[in-house]
Order: sequence, then C-alpha cells, then structure tokens
Amino acid sequence: MGLLDGKKGLIYGVRNEWSIAWGCAQSLAREGATLALTYLGEREEKDVRKLAAKLDEGAVPLIAPCDLTDEAQVTALHQQIKEQFGALDFVIHCVAFAKGLSGRYVDVSYDDFAVSLQVSSYTLVTAARHAAPLMTRGGSIVTLTYIGGERVIPNYNAAGISKAALESSVRYLANDLGVDGIRVNAISAGPTKTLSGKGISGFSNMMKFHAASSPLRHGTTIDQVGDVCAFFVSDWSRGVTGDVLFVDSGYHMLGMPTPAETITE
Ligand code: NAD
Repeated sequence: MGLLDGKKGLIYGVRNEWSIAWGCAQSLAREGATLALTYLGEREEKDVRKLAAKLDEGAVPLIAPCDLTDEAQVTALHQQIKEQFGALDFVIHCVAFAKGLSGRYVDVSYDDFAVSLQVSSYTLVTAARHAAPLMTRGGSIVTLTYIGGERVIPNYNAAGISKAALESSVRYLANDLGVDGIRVNAISAGPTKTLSGKGISGFSNMMKFHAASSPLRHGTTIDQVGDVCAFFVSDWSRGVTGDVLFVDSGYHMLGMPTPAETITE
C-alpha cells in the first residue's frame, strides 16, 4: 500500500536526472501515484521519456509537451489529461527561468525582470487556473521556491523577486481555491545541484557554505524534496494550505550562519 495509491497528477519541470521535479516524480511514483510529465522542447523529450521508463510500468501513462507561457499548449495538455485521467488530484510546479543572475540587482533590465516574473511566477497561476476545473475531488498544488525570495542572496536578483511573487501567489491561490478543497503550498529548497541552479553565479560556493553551516550539516538533495512533496500531495497534509515549508537542513532559521569549523570561541 502506497501513501498515494489512486492519486493522479501532473508534474511540470523534469529536465534531467538532477531536476527537483525528477526527485518528486520518483517519490510520488514510489508511493503509488500515476503521473503525467511534461517537457519543453524536442531535446528534453528524449531525456524525459528515458527517465520515465525507469519508474514502475504504468506509472507515467502520459508524457506531453508544455510551455507554460503558451496558453494553447496548456489547454491541449489539459484536454489530454481529461481524456486519459478523467480528473486530477495534484499538480507539481517545478518551473523557473531567470536572466541577469550575476552582478547587482539595481542593474537588472526590464526585459530580464519581466521574463523572470513571467516564467518563474505567473506560470503557477496559469497551471492552477487550468488544473482547478479537473480537481473535482479536491486537490493539491505544490510549487518550488527559494529563500532568495525572502532574503538577499548575491546574484539571485530578479529570480529572488520572482520567488517573492511566487510565494505571494501561493497565498492568493490558496485563498481562491480552498473553497473547492484545493490546497496550494510551496517547498523552499536549499541550494541543489541542478541545471537551473548552476546558472546562478557563485552557485557551487553557495552550496558548500549552505551544507557546512546548516544545523544538519548537509546539503539539500532531490529525494529530500521529493519525499516532502509526497507529504503535500497526500491526505496527511489535508489541513495545510498557503504555506511555505523549508527543506534546507534548517539553514533558514539561522540569524548568522557560520560554519562550525570557523567558530573559535
Ligand atoms: P531544472 O533546470 O532541472 O528545472 C527547471 C525546469 O523548468 C526545467 O525542466 C525547464 O524545462 C522548466 N521550464 C522552464 N521554462 C518553462 C516553461 N516556460 N514552461 C514549462 N517548463 C519550463 O532546475 P531545478 O533546480 O530542478 O528547478 C525546479 C524548481 O526548483 C525551480 O522553480 C527552481 O527555482 C526551484 N528551486 C531550485 C533550487 C536549486 O538550488 N536548484 C533551490 C530552490 C528552488
């Protein structure tokens, strides 16, 4: 018996074996969920199909293209889901794209700012709007955020502003959709070695510092995030909505993160 037996849902954002969305897919499939996965372009399709084949047979009956900034593609995807799944129990949104991830925030151009907000924040609203009518027995929507939405992280710039908007969207969406039994939450992951992460200037130092100074003294991995995602999809979290839960080895609660090795008195 899996925690998610009988649940059907959609995961956006599997790109390769490092993706946080792939960690979520593995945890959710292990717990018995049936998944639809999306990919962005032709090159990603091959990778996503190869990864999906590693999960239990029948765990991923639907793999489809979806650029969340393209309404026509999102509509077509939900039509397919309606035909194949009938209803949706969850949506996992692991989507981000940002520009200007080095230097000062004050120098960020409007174009870089706008595309970051569009892809990293507004796509959650699009995903929720399309999924909600299919969540006829209630549902759970989970997105991925980062502490850079609350605090200043060097080079994170417009990505941080996008995460702030994303977290605010979680609360507004949770309020709109709660009446239909649909919950909306975010997981705030610590720095994790993924393709998107590596696009941030100074990222590997950030990962090392985070792992050395966190209370648990280790970094964040996609399986840690995946298991918390399974909790959010499950009925065990039925009383939680509009919330942000950190999966970051406790780093977020520190007032002055200092690697233990450097403490001399
Ligand atoms: P990733 O590069 O593996 O995943 C990002 C995904 O976004 C890719 O699959 C890409 O195809 C998808 N995407 C981009 N534009 C899209 C669009 N228009 N439509 C649909 N999909 C689109 O990197 P990741 O780190 O796994 O990122 C997943 C989420 O986790 C992001 O929201 C990211 O900000 C967040 N996050 C990452 C970290 C980290 O350290 N890696 C930490 C906290 C939060």
